[in-house]
Amino acid sequence: MKDRYGRVIDYLRVSVTDRCNFRCVYCMPPDGIPSVSHDDILRYEELLRLIRIFAELGIKHIRLTGGEPTVRRGLVKLVREIHDMPGIETISMTTNGLLLPTLLDDLKDAGLTSVNISLDTLKEERFDEITRTTGNLPKVLDAIRLAEEEGLNTKVNCVAMRGVNDDELADIAAMAKDRNIGVRFIEYMPIGKHDYEQAIYKDELLDLLRSSLGELAEDPSPRGNGPAVYYKPEGFQGSVGVISAMSHAFCDTCNRVRMTPEGFLKLCLQYDVGVNLRSPVRQDLTDDQIKQLILASLDRKPEHHTFLDYAEKQDIDTRDMSLIGG
Ligand code: SAM
Ligand code: SF4
Repeated sequence: MKDRYGRVIDYLRVSVTDRCNFRCVYCMPPDGIPSVSHDDILRYEELLRLIRIFAELGIKHIRLTGGEPTVRRGLVKLVREIHDMPGIETISMTTNGLLLPTLLDDLKDAGLTSVNISLDTLKEERFDEITRTTGNLPKVLDAIRLAEEEGLNTKVNCVAMRGVNDDELADIAAMAKDRNIGVRFIEYMPIGKHDYEQAIYKDELLDLLRSSLGELAEDPSPRGNGPAVYYKPEGFQGSVGVISAMSHAFCDTCNRVRMTPEGFLKLCLQYDVGVNLRSPVRQDLTDDQIKQLILASLDRKPEHHTFLDYAEKQDIDTRDMSLIGG
């Protein structure tokens, strides 16, 4: 699949649920958000059918996300079925890690290739404050260790926040010192209504890291299909990445589209532009008809996001990140 700017789209992020067992401060309000009604969520067979259609259109890489993907029932079976689809090369998942340990063996066996685990602090009290839960940091640290031991391509995602975790970014990066994992810092994005004034952009982030870790040589070895740029501090086995969606937008090489739990094909993280695929599936349109809808919608994929001056724009998606999947 190609969009009108000639970008090849081969990566689909599938948000399998809007539900989550955390309430992260940058992702949703303290009381959470009203759940999408069960009937509005794509059923298992509908989800599989759409993913198969995408695979036939040229999608090679699937990332399962949420909400928290591990709270969706049937996740292992879903991974197995996606793995068996012709054309699919990698299946990855972004998770908060809490429920991962009990699922890891089965997910690996079903064909999961890599896992990104979100972790914004190594301090217990701070972890509780950020996730608005109690006592879960050791479980998430365990999940990271176990995923790595299981042989999955394991990455840690950390949202860098001024005044929240900027005093420990080098410590978090140091998780990659003696282990072959990628620790990636994500720029806080203005999705939903949160304190994104806390964002720390790439150049400042790298300066902060250099002041503790020394020179950062760029690490060209690939760790995924995403836009992270990786660096290898001296003496590190793993690498440290930065995902600078805000300050150094990577829209010209964007290879992705997203599907929400309700089956909305979302063409850009920032905009509410796309096509509803749930109705066509429920109205029994043929695969070919659904493919035409998808291909036609690609013409409306925005050329780039405008997060930095978003206040002036139209068609902005006002939903929280947990409804979009990151
Ligand atoms: N629940 C899973 C998790 O936390 O990894 C998957 C869904 S979560 C929405 C996906 C990713 O988006 C996480 O790594 C999270 O840190 C990130 N995220 C959420 N809100 C964000 C924001 N406002 N800016 C940047 N990243 C954000
Ligand atoms: Fe849940 Fe992930 Fe959002 Fe945190 S970032 S509230 S774990 S969906």
